[in-house]
Amino acid sequence: MATGCLFCNIVARTVPAQIVIENDHVVVFKDIRPMAPTHVLVIPRKHVIGIHEAGAEDVALLGHVLLAARDAAEKLGLGESGYRLVLNSGLDAGQSVFHLHCHVIGGRPLAWPPG
Ligand code: 5GP
Ligand code: ZN
Repeated sequence: MATGCLFCNIVARTVPAQIVIENDHVVVFKDIRPMAPTHVLVIPRKHVIGIHEAGAEDVALLGHVLLAARDAAEKLGLGESGYRLVLNSGLDAGQSVFHLHCHVIGGRPLAWPPG
């Protein structure tokens, strides 16, 4: 738990969120500013700043994040239509919350390459 971290506070339930899935490792919740009909965020319960800061000790945690993203996509009905997973890292990517999170985005055709 990092004091003052928004997503740690969502994990701790001191900041409300619309939770879709949670388990011992991750919490999945709806993005407050959805970019598509379906847009949820997968976060580890552990405070890790981002993918660039993750260490070898986080290998299992990263696997849990990806599998929970897949499970959330399936639960939200994106299994057949498809979806995109995004991890923004640092300023050029527009990372705005410095607690690792994987975006799960879908429900419409997604342009490629991204902006
Ligand atoms: P980033 O830009 O760091 O990759 O993504 C951060 C995401 O967190 C953004 O899509 C933003 O809309 C979302 N977000 C920021 N504050 C909150 C919040 O208080 N609650 C929820 N549910 N999402 C948030
Ligand atoms: Zn945090």
